[in-house]
Amino acid sequence: MPHASPITTDVDFARDGKQFGHLAVPQSTNSAGWAKCLVPITVIRNGDGPTALLFGGNHGDEFEGPVTLLNLARRLRPEQIRGRVIMVPMLNRPAIAAGTRLSPIDGVNMNRAFPGHPGDTITGMIAHYVSSNLLPLADLVIDIHSGGSSMHMLPSVNMHRLENQPQMERMLEAAHAWRAPYIFLYRDVAGAGLLPSHAEQMGKVTLGTEMGSKAQFGVETLGITSRGVDNVLHWAEILVEPPPTGGSGAASQVVEAGDESDYLMAPTSGIFEPLQELGDQIVRGQVIGRLHDIERPQQPPEEIRTESAGILFARRSVPLTAQGECLAVITRVVDPVSTKS
Ligand SMILES: [Zn+2]
Repeated sequence: MPHASPITTDVDFARDGKQFGHLAVPQSTNSAGWAKCLVPITVIRNGDGPTALLFGGNHGDEFEGPVTLLNLARRLRPEQIRGRVIMVPMLNRPAIAAGTRLSPIDGVNMNRAFPGHPGDTITGMIAHYVSSNLLPLADLVIDIHSGGSSMHMLPSVNMHRLENQPQMERMLEAAHAWRAPYIFLYRDVAGAGLLPSHAEQMGKVTLGTEMGSKAQFGVETLGITSRGVDNVLHWAEILVEPPPTGGSGAASQVVEAGDESDYLMAPTSGIFEPLQELGDQIVRGQVIGRLHDIERPQQPPEEIRTESAGILFARRSVPLTAQGECLAVITRVVDPVSTKS
């Protein structure tokens, strides 16, 4: 018997038309013993058909998803679709308001809280509502991320490499429909409990993204995000007419960081000096950056050498670095059809 969520909503998922509403999450605070944290949700439905479930603001320092989905929620009219689009533009609503990656209320990372539990603190409680009430409704799941405050990234649509080959092929088809510069196959090197992992395990066609970073936030990355969502909704036969900008641009390059060594973590703390930029071709053993010791200036900086070769796909965007933090990600081009590396 699944545990019921204490979260309620004022939207009716079965009703045709457009509804702006909220998920009301119980909260007890110092200023109000009885209160609700209101997480905005928009449902647009036009008869029977597939359901797309779109998330932004899983991390509170990534604003590409909120801007794209707030615009889409206002712009999209029921008569333009067949089926249903459910949008949660600011999933970790308290984190978005604070501009922080993790929730300021319980310090939890929403993208490590899945599947969640109704008895969890606020972040896990929201994750549980998504797992038990929203994901079962969906055929297509999109979770929009970027590098946020700490990483510069090449703009990509992403996914794990799945055992289920038909599901993987369908997800790659959806990813190609996005028309982002890259399709990025990644592995989890910093914990489990991700929203996309959970949706993938439920068999959903699931796309994540890494659309640049807080510092790269702008016209280009927002354009790739918003055109891509339209393109994929059309691919899913939810958006009836092709979007005006759909299908334009070069085909995506499929890249993979499948080995633990593709993710370079800082061996010591210090000031990170990058020596290579995003998109650069890296050879094995190349020094891609240096860490300067702020306490021992006479000490030569620690050289960061790669153990793998490929494209510099991501690098740390903040100079001050603590031991163990990710400095760079190296990817290799893989066959877009078979996705064999
Ligand atoms: Zn994120």
